[in-house]
Amino acid sequence: MEAIDWKNLSFGYSKTDYNVRSWYRNGKWGELEISDSEVINMHMAATSLHYGQESFEGLKAFMGKDGKIRVFRMIENARRMQRSAAGVMMAEVPDSLFMEAVIKAVQLNKKFVPPFESGASLYIRPLLIGTGAQIGVKPADEYLFMIFVMPVGPYFKEGFKPTDLVIYRQYDRAAPLGTGTIKVGGNYAASLVAGQHAHDNGFSAVLYLDAREKKYLDECGPANFFGIKKNKYITPKSSSILPSITNMSLRQIAEDMGMEVEVRPIPVEELSEFDEIGACGTAAVISPIKRVYDADLDKEYLYGSEPGKISVQLYEKLRGIQYGTEPDPYGWTDIIE
Ligand SMILES: *Cc1c(COP(=O)(O)O)cnc(C)c1O
Repeated sequence: MEAIDWKNLSFGYSKTDYNVRSWYRNGKWGELEISDSEVINMHMAATSLHYGQESFEGLKAFMGKDGKIRVFRMIENARRMQRSAAGVMMAEVPDSLFMEAVIKAVQLNKKFVPPFESGASLYIRPLLIGTGAQIGVKPADEYLFMIFVMPVGPYFKEGFKPTDLVIYRQYDRAAPLGTGTIKVGGNYAASLVAGQHAHDNGFSAVLYLDAREKKYLDECGPANFFGIKKNKYITPKSSSILPSITNMSLRQIAEDMGMEVEVRPIPVEELSEFDEIGACGTAAVISPIKRVYDADLDKEYLYGSEPGKISVQLYEKLRGIQYGTEPDPYGWTDIIE
């Protein structure tokens, strides 16, 4: 194996030694299998390919200062994947199988967990797809659940450096009562054009508004939104955003830091009242935002070119829990032996 340059990893695919797989057939999940292939052999009429029966997850494992590998809140990913499965009528992966698969995938690829000092981590990608053949629009009778892993650096090239978001009213990511609350590939396909438009114009992501009225903030593509106002952590309530486990964790940390937490609709204009804003998700933890450009109104909201004080505190606390340098009072991490 070529030596990995841990400090210069990007957020992208790379091959590791093994992945794990379980097939759902005849109404039940099979034994977890270990594979060293990057390929899936499946029927050309598989429902995942035609009708979008697919869901994925993202979580991470961290090498601690103490040499222990910790995964962060995997039970929450298991539960979310069950909600996603129910949302597009796929067989649900039980907690026990999900966690067994995460543990096995990490154990089998231990040498790819980046060292503590690098600030990098092992990204864990669970995938659930309809593999049964179906041409009528119906759920499949066969599914594949698999997990593969890869070492990754920070999601945003700039790392913990503030980036710019853009508001475009001509795109929606998800419908108000659609699939926005579950983690399915279709939402991502639907956001590619807007994302490209944003990147082409120098923005790191689109800040979506609620699809119905275009009045309230939804989320930032693949990350939730939060704003800090005085001693408050404020994050949108919406029927079209994905409940982020990072956001859920930050709300708890904010509360423990003595902040008030509000989950409520956030009108676009309130952007002018925040001291700091950020995008949060597993990939980046927190990406501070220095500017939001409202492209339709040619209006900008500015937050300073350095990460805000509270964003930094939240970020450090969460990273500390993940790397085992801070106490973990809620038992969010599991140590992988
Ligand atoms: C995965 C995801 C997030 C972030 O969720 P985490 O659990 O914090 O990683 C936010 N928004 C969308 C649309 C997502 O798919």
